[in-house]
Parts: sequence; C-alpha cells; structure tokens
Amino acid sequence: MVNVILLGPPGAGKGTQAKRLVDGRGMVQLSTGDMLREARSSGTGMGRRVAQVMDRGELVTDDIVIGLIEEKLTHARGAGFIFDGFPRTLPQADALGRLLDKVGQRLDAVIEMQVDDAALVARITGRVTCGVCGAVYHDRTHPTRQPGVCDVCGSTDLRRRADDNEASLRQRLMEYYKKTSPLIGYYYAKGQLTTVDGLAEVEVVAEAVRRVLDKG
Ligand code: ADP
Ligand code: AMP
Repeated sequence: MVNVILLGPPGAGKGTQAKRLVDGRGMVQLSTGDMLREARSSGTGMGRRVAQVMDRGELVTDDIVIGLIEEKLTHARGAGFIFDGFPRTLPQADALGRLLDKVGQRLDAVIEMQVDDAALVARITGRVTCGVCGAVYHDRTHPTRQPGVCDVCGSTDLRRRADDNEASLRQRLMEYYKKTSPLIGYYYAKGQLTTVDGLAEVEVVAEAVRRVLDKG
C-alpha cells in the first residue's frame, strides 16, 4: 500500500500519471478537481456554489475540499491513494496528515512534477478529457487515434474544460505560486519530496514516478 501526492501546477501532467497508476497498479485516484466537476454537473448546492470560483481559476475553500477528501478516504479501497490536485494549501496539507492518521494510513511520497510556465499554456489549451472514463488527451501531442472517439472506452463524449483558457490559467498559476508552491518546502522539510522532470515524455515521467513508488 503506497499513498502518494502528485504536486505541480495546472497542466503538469498529474491526472495523466494518476490514470496510469490506477490502470497499472489498482491505486485509487483522489482528484478534488474531478470531485468538484462532478458536483457541478450533478447540480448539487455545493456544485452551484463553487462553479464560478472554478471558472475564474480561484481556489475553492479549504473546508469544502477537505470534506470531499475525508468522505473518500473513509470509503474508498484500493492499492493506495493518489492525491491529485490536493492538498493545494498549507491548511489542506495539515488536514490531510490528520485524516491519514485517523484512517491508520501514512503518506509515503510527494512527487513534484516540474514544468515551466510556457509549456503549461500549450498543454492546457490543447487538453481534451473523456467525459465517461476520464482519459486525458491533447490536440497535438496526444490526439485520439480516431478523431472524436476515446481510445480507452470508445465514448464520443470528449470535453474541453470551461477553465482551460489562457485567462483562467493565468489566475490558476497565480494561485499555484501564492498558495500551493509553499507545499514544496513543507514536504521537503519533512523529507518526503522527490522532484521529477514533468517536461519529459509521458512514458519517461511514468518511469520516474514508478521508481519513486517502488522505493517508498
Ligand atoms: P494536470 O492534471 O496536472 O492538470 P494533465 O494530466 O491533465 O495535467 O495534462 C495536461 C495536458 O498535458 C493534457 O492535454 C495531457 O495530454 C498533456 N500532457 C500530460 N503529460 C504530458 C507530457 N509528459 N508531455 C506532453 N504532454 C503531456
Ligand atoms: P484541477 O482539476 O486540479 O485543475 O482543479 C480545477 C479547479 O478546481 C481549481 O482551479 C480550483 O478552482 C478547484 N480545486 C481543485 N482542487 C482544489 C483544492 N485542493 N483546493 C481548492 N480548490 C481546488
């Protein structure tokens, strides 16, 4: 059982690597972004409240995302958890430590995926996600084999995210540098941080992630 945080700016490739770990190792992906989008599309009160905040590229409140993670940690089962897009603030990181203690688990590794800002714009504006299975594609670097059809599940429900535009990305990057990047120092100080080159090809990044998990 290995529990890992994938840490990095929007577009660093966290979701792409998380999906591979789910398929390859039976781990459970806990993406607060996916949970919030699900809440939005199912029209819950919380979903409606956070929709505009997400579209502006700001962070939703700590209480909401901590509540979502707590719910999943107590119910989901698998060969370890991948925290994707959580924690994003120091209070969230502290809360995660407490929640893992509560369920008798520990954090084994934090992988920082380093990608420079110029690459992020190109990645985010070309991102397409399957609305059924969550597979992640890119218009240029990783297109579907058949246009408009998901390679993994055959669905034609391929979506672009409402917040995947340059204006929202700029705000999301600002939030990342102000509120999330301090977590790099936080986990470094705890001796849990490993940095990988997120600019490398998907396969190469996956191999670097595998090495960290097999060591942990
Ligand atoms: P995040 O979850 O960190 O926001 P994603 O995994 O959704 O990032 O990836 C953002 C975009 O970049 C997607 O379109 C994806 O196909 C592409 N991508 C992910 N990893 C790589 C990589 N190593 N090289 C090139 N493109 C990548
Ligand atoms: P993501 O899918 O990780 O890119 O997240 C999309 C959006 O969801 C972010 O821009 C935030 O508005 C919101 N969000 C996701 N995870 C968190 C989190 N841990 N804390 C606060 N807001 C979050």
